[in-house]
Amino acid sequence: QSVAEKIDYVFKVVVIGDSAVGKTQILARFTKNDFCFDSKSTIGVEFQTRTLTINSKVIKAQIWDTAGQERYRAVTSAYYRGALGAMLVYDITKRQSFDHVARWVEELRAHADNSIVIMLIGNKADLVDLRAVPTEDAVEFAENQGLFFSETSALNGDNVESAFFKLLEGIYGQV
Ligand code: GDP
Ligand code: MG
Repeated sequence: QSVAEKIDYVFKVVVIGDSAVGKTQILARFTKNDFCFDSKSTIGVEFQTRTLTINSKVIKAQIWDTAGQERYRAVTSAYYRGALGAMLVYDITKRQSFDHVARWVEELRAHADNSIVIMLIGNKADLVDLRAVPTEDAVEFAENQGLFFSETSALNGDNVESAFFKLLEGIYGQV
């Protein structure tokens, strides 16, 4: 029996948010438990995968990364097609990246399936002294919009695993 035959579900998840908020590093942390200090803006690879178990079901998470098209409205609808979940990332040290979150939600509402499960992520939580976005602001936004929320650090790994699991469990609860 091949490994492929054991997979119960494939969940497509898209990672979105402004440039340089840490999307690619969050993905590297989750799929390879790795962090790359000199990461250039993403070129090439469209998605990474990680196979895990939820409620004894084998789930292959296929996580898509933008290839530097984070400019407003440059991400195409093909990117969102078939996505069951989204990681919407901002940088807790860059107020503008949080101010743009509402636009990214609009993008999702316009291009993705209505039932898409969204996890709002405040990344770079390790940079405590540079914080520009209070946690409460994000909690309030997430509650109003019906999003999950977590603060993460791709650098030290804090909450990355739990955020992905929460998102994937949310998707699993809908299939
Ligand atoms: P992307 O454009 O959203 O994919 O962002 P990258 O993943 O390429 O990260 C942009 C920059 O932020 C890089 O210099 C990373 O090393 C840095 N970075 C990413 N995540 C973190 C984090 O959690 N903490 C800190 N301190 N830096 C991070
Ligand atoms: Mg990137």
